[in-house]
Amino acid sequence: MKQIAIVSGKGGTGKTSITSAFAAIAKSKILVDCDVDAADLFLVTNPTIEIKHRYKGGEIAVINQETCTNCGVCIDLCRFDAIRLIEEQTTISEFSCDGCRLCELACPEKAIQMEENFNSNWFESNTRFGPMVHAKLGIGEDNSGKLVTQIRDRAKKIAQEKNLDIVLIDGPPGIGCPVISTLTGIDIALMVTEPTLSGMHDLNRLIELAKGFKLKSYVLINKSDLNDEISNRIEQLCIANEMEVLAKIPFNRSFVDAMVNQKTLIEFAPDSDLSKTLHTVWNRLILDKV
Ligand code: SF4
Ligand code: SF4
Repeated sequence: MKQIAIVSGKGGTGKTSITSAFAAIAKSKILVDCDVDAADLFLVTNPTIEIKHRYKGGEIAVINQETCTNCGVCIDLCRFDAIRLIEEQTTISEFSCDGCRLCELACPEKAIQMEENFNSNWFESNTRFGPMVHAKLGIGEDNSGKLVTQIRDRAKKIAQEKNLDIVLIDGPPGIGCPVISTLTGIDIALMVTEPTLSGMHDLNRLIELAKGFKLKSYVLINKSDLNDEISNRIEQLCIANEMEVLAKIPFNRSFVDAMVNQKTLIEFAPDSDLSKTLHTVWNRLILDKV
């Protein structure tokens, strides 16, 4: 079984459009949407949820209003500005609370208790492309790296149970915790970038991060005609890091039109040059020895 992640140093590069195109091309696979902070692969794959799991994202502080005297001690102590006096009641914002427990320890009335936070869910679903595991992180939750690990573990188990060849991962943007959880243990990363200064800068950071994971990494430059000079500089960056650019795709309106029609590019424009390019890139990824 091969685990292939489509990642990008920044959002808006077209990563999910490319992942969904691969979802339409790949034969024996399970999809995983690891962009749990802003999941959008479901917009195209339209999953039918089979099993819904609750995700314990951590703990939050809760005040017992019966015993709270509104003394204000906790308000002064909270470094996350999560506690306020609202309409003469000391109140904790579940979205701002970091679960540090300081207020619980400091409250002279023992009016604060920690409770488990189950704001997030993850799902095992079916799509027209096969099984998919995805998640919905609750507002204000920041335990996304752990959630990514959880859904990846489940996807791998399903792939083993169903004897599937590929785990195809739509990765999160950036280089934070969820990206580290996405890159851990995979075989191949395809980094999707665009020729802007921020795109090149973020790709560079992603390349540096990926070096520690000992995995095969490739680059795809999307909207490559946006800036020819930066596009060339990205190619030089890849040469310097011994990474191959598998494709340079000029801006193509079909990606947007396909998304609007809730289709993958392969379904929307199967005979287009873009479709052929994406088939070539995918074949390269799956035929690669890792
Ligand atoms: S420290 Fe305790 S008693 Fe004082 S305002 Fe906070 S919760 Fe209420
Ligand atoms: S647990 Fe920490 S972050 Fe949450 S309200 Fe209490 S002091 Fe603030």
